[in-house]
Amino acid sequence: MAANWQRGVLKALGVKNHPVEVVGVTDITPWYRRVRLSAPGFFDTVAVHPTLWVRLWVSDPEKGRLVQRGYTVVDPRPETHEFSLDFVLHEPTGPAAAWAKSLRVGDRAEVAHTTQRLTIPPEARTLVLVGDSTAVPAIVTLLESAPDDADVHVVIHDEHPDRASLPLPAERATTLTWVDADRDGTNAVAAIAGSTDGVDADGVYLWAAGERHLVKAVREHARTAWGLPRERQHAQNYWIRGHSVG
Ligand SMILES: Cc1cc2nc3c(=O)[nH]c(=O)nc-3n(C[C@H](O)[C@H](O)[C@H](O)COP(=O)(O)OP(=O)(O)OC[C@H]3O[C@@H](n4cnc5c(N)ncnc54)[C@H](O)[C@@H]3O)c2cc1C
Repeated sequence: MAANWQRGVLKALGVKNHPVEVVGVTDITPWYRRVRLSAPGFFDTVAVHPTLWVRLWVSDPEKGRLVQRGYTVVDPRPETHEFSLDFVLHEPTGPAAAWAKSLRVGDRAEVAHTTQRLTIPPEARTLVLVGDSTAVPAIVTLLESAPDDADVHVVIHDEHPDRASLPLPAERATTLTWVDADRDGTNAVAAIAGSTDGVDADGVYLWAAGERHLVKAVREHARTAWGLPRERQHAQNYWIRGHSVG
């Protein structure tokens, strides 16, 4: 499949593509699949940090070219040159979810590293982590790196009856609230307000990611309820309902 302008632009920016090979597949639920990748050389240029993500290149048969999709690095092991990606096998599907559904051990692909790096101010005492199932991998990395004495509130927006099987280290969270997915993030905002009632807004750091409408609602709550300045929040649209991201 031919290279394309996105690959050209990233290459010009110095973003290197790394070959990866599938070495394991684990179905955590019927709709959430962990794929173990061997990535020789990847960690030579990439430092592991919370929420580290890669651009995965997959073929899009409709566009007749490679497209890139963001996925969060899970369980990185620089010593064995391996890491995992967790895929939500969503419907309607897209090129990345379709790749993850059909892959076999031994399949190959390419990933490009990203330079985005999260900085959480040391004075943040209360971490509020919000997302849908696509954000679970990143939330896991934030939970794993949170100081032991941090006050950590997690809200996950998801509609699956078996959502509690997702691999969250729940014991690291002060509160973990599951909310049923709705179209505008109302349920998540109500859960955040309930969970953080009485918390001092001056110590809050908010991290939010997932579907665009959810992220917008959470960002708005951060503005109106806490007046959070930019440096005390990170809110990122991971996908858009009804639209392909690329
Ligand atoms: C920094 C970053 C990190 C990310 N990390 C992860 C991760 O670790 N795991 C993960 O699963 N995703 C992650 N995502 C989200 C993932 O990149 C998107 O879900 C992406 O749209 C999937 O690409 P696709 O080719 O399967 O579908 P697309 O071609 O983008 O979309 C096709 C259709 O599927 C719908 N769709 C896309 N995603 C979903 C979904 N989750 N649920 C329901 N419908 C959907 C779209 O609305 C569209 O109708 C991340 C995104 C970013 C930016």
